[in-house]
Amino acid sequence: MKFGGTSVADIDRIRNVARHVKREVDAGHEVAVVVSAMAGVTNQLVAWAREAAPLHDAREYDAVLASGEQVTAGLLAIVLEGIGVNARSWQGWQLPILTSNAHGSARIDEINGAELIKRFRERKQVAVIAGFQGLHKETGRITTLGRGGSDTSAVAIAAAIQADRCDIYTDVDGVYTSDPRVVPRAKRLEKIAFEEMLELASLGAKVLQVRSVELGMVHNVRIFVRSSFEKPEDIDPMSNHPPGTLICDEAEIMEQQVVTGIAFSKDEAQISIRHVPDKPGVAAAIFGPLAEANINVDMIVQNVSADGATTDLTFTVPAADYDRANAVLVKSKSAIGYDHLDGSTDVAKVSVIGIGMRSHAGVAAQAFKALAARQINIRAITTSEIKFSLLIDAAYTELAVRTLHSLYGLDK
Ligand code: ADP
Ligand code: ASP
Ligand code: MG
Repeated sequence: MKFGGTSVADIDRIRNVARHVKREVDAGHEVAVVVSAMAGVTNQLVAWAREAAPLHDAREYDAVLASGEQVTAGLLAIVLEGIGVNARSWQGWQLPILTSNAHGSARIDEINGAELIKRFRERKQVAVIAGFQGLHKETGRITTLGRGGSDTSAVAIAAAIQADRCDIYTDVDGVYTSDPRVVPRAKRLEKIAFEEMLELASLGAKVLQVRSVELGMVHNVRIFVRSSFEKPEDIDPMSNHPPGTLICDEAEIMEQQVVTGIAFSKDEAQISIRHVPDKPGVAAAIFGPLAEANINVDMIVQNVSADGATTDLTFTVPAADYDRANAVLVKSKSAIGYDHLDGSTDVAKVSVIGIGMRSHAGVAAQAFKALAARQINIRAITTSEIKFSLLIDAAYTELAVRTLHSLYGLDK
C-alpha cells in the first residue's frame, strides 16, 4: 500500500491512512506500507536547498530531501500503534534499499524483502517504509529517486516481497483518459496496459513515476491506482474490484480502444538551428555535445534542404535545460557552422496514446485536421508505434487536449 503526499498531508489524513491499513490487516492480508512526504514538504526542502546555494552538492540535496519521508513514516507508525496495529518505520538505509549513486535520481539496485516478510509472519508487524530514498552501499550515503519516486519505492518493494498487488493510493480514484484537473470530462480507465501507462507517464501524466511502471512491467507487479479519500470503512477488503485502475498486461484487456489517453507537458523548450550545412556529420556535431552535457533531446525535425546546401533543424529539450543547451550550441557554433539560433520555452507537447494505433491507420491525420479547425499551429510532430506527439504553443495546451479528448471519443 503506497500513500502519496496529499493522502498524508496532515495528522487527520494520516489517521485515515492508518484505517485503510488496519482494514487490510484485519481482513487477514499481509501488507507493507510506503509513504511520501506530507504535501508540499518536498517542494519546501528543494526551495531551501536552492536558497542555501543554487549550485549545491547533490549528496547534501539528498540528505535534505530524504527527511520528508522519514517524518511521515514515523508518524504513521505511531498512529497505527495507537489503533492497535503493530507497526515499525523503516528508512531506506535501514532496510536497506540499495541504489546507484546518481544522487537526485538514483536507481534501485536491490531490496531484501526477507526481514519484512519475517516480521509480519512472526509478529504481524506492519512495515511503514519511507519512500523516495535509498542508500548507496559503497559510499554509505543517502540517495533519492527523483520527484515522484515513492511510486517506484512501492513497486520495487512489492516485487521484493512478491506481493500479489501494489496499491497506489492517491488523490484521484484511478488513471484517467487525461488529467482530470484539465479535462473535466476525463473518464477513469478500468484497466490500462503497462506499455500505454509507460507512455502516459513519460509524456506528462504525473499520476505515476515512469520508473515505477517500468519496474512493474519487468517484474510483473500488478499496480492498482486508487483513492485514499474513500472512507476506509466503506471498502470491502476482500473485493477484487474496488474503484480504481489496474495497470496490467495487454493480454488482460478485452476491449481495446484505438486511443486510450491524452497526455501533455509544458516542461518543454524548442530550439531551432537555422541554416546548418546539409552534409554528413552535422547531426553528430549538434547532438554529441548536448549528450555530453547530459541534456535529453526529444523531438527532432530536420528539413531536406531546397538548395542542397543548408537546412533548418528543430528539436526540443526539457525547459529546465534550455539555457544550458543554448550555451552548449553557441560554444560549438564554429564546429557546426550554422547561421543563428532561435527558440522558445512557451511550447507544450500534447501526446495521444493507444495500443490500438498499431492496427489503425489515419489516427494522427484526424488530429491534424481537428487542431487546424481550431487554428492551432503544429510546430513539430513525432510518432511511434503506439503514440504520437505534437508540439504547439503553450497557450493552446488546454484547448488542444480537450479537442483531442472529444475527437477520439474519450468524453463519452
Ligand atoms: P501523489 O501525491 O499521491 O503521488 P500525484 O500528485 O503525484 O499524487 O499524482 C496524482 C495527480 O496526477 C492527480 O491529482 C492528477 O491531477 C494528476 N494526473 C495527471 N494525469 C492524470 C491521469 N491521466 N489520470 C489521473 N491523474 C492524473
Ligand atoms: N516526496 C517526493 C516528491 O514529492 C516523492 C513522492 O512523493 O513520490 O517528489
Ligand atoms: Mg506522485
